[in-house]
Amino acid sequence: MFKRMKLAAVLFFFTHTVSAEWFSHSFEVMGTQAHVEFWLDDSVEVKSTAKQMILLVQDEMHRIDHAMSPYKKTSELSLVNNKAGTESVVITSELFELLTESQKIAELSEGAFDITYASVGYQYDYRKKQKPDQASIESALKAIDYRTVILERKNSTVRFSHPDVKIDLGGIAKGYAVKQCLELLKVAGIKHALVSAGGDTGLLGDRRGRPWYVGIKHPRAEEKTAVKLPLSNESISTSGDYERYFIEDGVRYHHIINPKTGDSARKVVSVSIIGKDPTYVDALSTTVFVKGLQEGMAFIEKLPGYEAIIIDNQQTLHVSKGLQQQ
Ligand code: AMP
Ligand code: MG
Repeated sequence: MFKRMKLAAVLFFFTHTVSAEWFSHSFEVMGTQAHVEFWLDDSVEVKSTAKQMILLVQDEMHRIDHAMSPYKKTSELSLVNNKAGTESVVITSELFELLTESQKIAELSEGAFDITYASVGYQYDYRKKQKPDQASIESALKAIDYRTVILERKNSTVRFSHPDVKIDLGGIAKGYAVKQCLELLKVAGIKHALVSAGGDTGLLGDRRGRPWYVGIKHPRAEEKTAVKLPLSNESISTSGDYERYFIEDGVRYHHIINPKTGDSARKVVSVSIIGKDPTYVDALSTTVFVKGLQEGMAFIEKLPGYEAIIIDNQQTLHVSKGLQQQ
């Protein structure tokens, strides 16, 4: 009997000590690469639990993609784009809240961030090297104005006050997905985790006594890293003109659009924003990219809790004041 108990105690100890480890997994979602990494140390059946955590993150990212992708005909976003130009559409509270946050950032940024950019944005196809001609851009510009998106909280509806408006959440949805996944891991008891989707990364805690190191891609050398930042409990989002683009007659046409011109924003080549909220840093990186160095940096300096790293057209790196003091 005594021997048995001893064996059980040894086994218990053994499973507990070896079960503490890092897990990581990468997968494709939202047209980009996603990654999750976390520390698990308090479960006997650690392997299956780790698998469950990974599934939790994967399922959540796919769920958000299915609801918010403009490329999926059955997504809630596509439904809104098809109908809201002519009638009020009842939407889920999740989409309502994300639209509300998008509208807040549009107002704050004086329209540099504007989900109705898509009224012209859908006419670009970077893989096929297609762009709208000047006449099409000018006609579409009439439908680019975030104020045409009317949200009514009472009935949870959205309506466009112009029939040609299209919206797209590509500038904010990945950050939102990262935020949701981190929250799920946190609720499950995880204390150290990294979740990323494309250029959006969210961190839960540190890397057990050390910071996480998050790289910012070199904008003109694919496999190189421009800077590596030590971060804990923060989120960071990078917007770059190298993600989706084609070059025609020496001009780079890429996926971040200046809502005022309907053309790609070309004042800078890369913008990273650091702050607590993954959703906001995502939207703010797109915002500052459109605004460019001077206006963008001034905008971030006025926002408490957010820092910026901007790489300009000469590939010079500029950092906001909060980062200079560190
Ligand atoms: P990000 O990679 O986070 O900078 O987001 C780029 C994505 O944001 C694009 O692929 C578009 O889906 C969307 N987008 C482009 N221009 C704008 C804009 N001016 N305001 C809001 N979203 C935009
Ligand atoms: Mg963004």
